[in-house]
Amino acid sequence: MIPRAFEYVRPSSLSEAIALLAQGGEGAKLLSGGHSLLPMMKLRLADPSTLIDVSELTDLRGITIGTNEIVVGAATTHAELEHHAELASVAPMFAVVGHQIADPTVRNRGTIGGSLAHADPSADWPAAMLALDATIDIVGANGPRSIAADSFFKGLFETDLASDEIIVRLRIPMGPGQRVAYRKFRHPASGYAVVGVAVALGVQAGRCTGGRIAVTGFADHVYRAKAAEAALAGYTGQPEQTGHLLDLAFDGIAALEDRFADADYRTQLGRTMLRRALADAMSTDGSH
Ligand SMILES: Cc1cc2nc3c(=O)[nH]c(=O)nc-3n(C[C@H](O)[C@H](O)[C@H](O)COP(=O)(O)OP(=O)(O)OC[C@H]3O[C@@H](n4cnc5c(N)ncnc54)[C@H](O)[C@@H]3O)c2cc1C
Repeated sequence: MIPRAFEYVRPSSLSEAIALLAQGGEGAKLLSGGHSLLPMMKLRLADPSTLIDVSELTDLRGITIGTNEIVVGAATTHAELEHHAELASVAPMFAVVGHQIADPTVRNRGTIGGSLAHADPSADWPAAMLALDATIDIVGANGPRSIAADSFFKGLFETDLASDEIIVRLRIPMGPGQRVAYRKFRHPASGYAVVGVAVALGVQAGRCTGGRIAVTGFADHVYRAKAAEAALAGYTGQPEQTGHLLDLAFDGIAALEDRFADADYRTQLGRTMLRRALADAMSTDGSH
């Protein structure tokens, strides 16, 4: 449980961090909250020669609420997102999801950017970012680029991020009248989602006009349940409609199996979490 020796550097600017990452090659790793990377180093599942600490970089910090979008710095902690009152009033998903991550110790250090880059198949923020249709701004030695969260997650702990790139911020569009909900079945030890479901629905006069459904913990990576999304228009919460959406969200998806949940149990949990999330979103009046 002791990591190998490594160098630690704390760049004072984003450009310095990019240069250090490029110079360090495959041996260099970004350090943000350290709550995924350090456990992996202790288990010798990661073996970086240099840690580049980006947790205090101004460019990666902060929450800005604009008219058309919310901008969240990659090094914003889970706790900052959980407790930001103005953010909670315009985008309740952040407080709801932030509160459900692990425990206060993890939430005080862990960051949203670290969570997305790590891409644990059971992490919470990836599902929330897919449901909220976030865009991820990235910068590397070859310059900046942006990618839809929906295209970012590629597989088990695998993303579109190159080893010389840094997630700088997330941009979340502000949708009028959008209702959101997040339900997860927590692993009793870690708090990770055995299955978690985030939904963002447009609802007018009790009838769904469309939306997004994102599932974490169920498959080898977070996914949008697009067949179910395509059937959302006209949804009023009737049980038979709900059952159809549950079938569309989970049928044909290869479920993870582990010591905690086999495929059948995980499927039942997923269906239950989606049913509850849909009921929450249809019955509340979340403004985002
Ligand atoms: C006991 C425990 C319980 C947990 N329970 C949960 C839970 O319930 N739900 C949940 O979602 N998570 C959970 N986590 C994980 C936690 O949320 C981590 O904070 C998160 O996965 C990683 O964020 P970090 O800032 O700690 O990243 P780090 O550990 O610092 O880094 C993780 C990876 O991301 C890379 N990285 C970091 N920042 C950037 C960046 N800006 N750009 C590009 N790459 C970057 C690093 O190089 C590294 O590869 C738990 C962790 C622990 C230890």
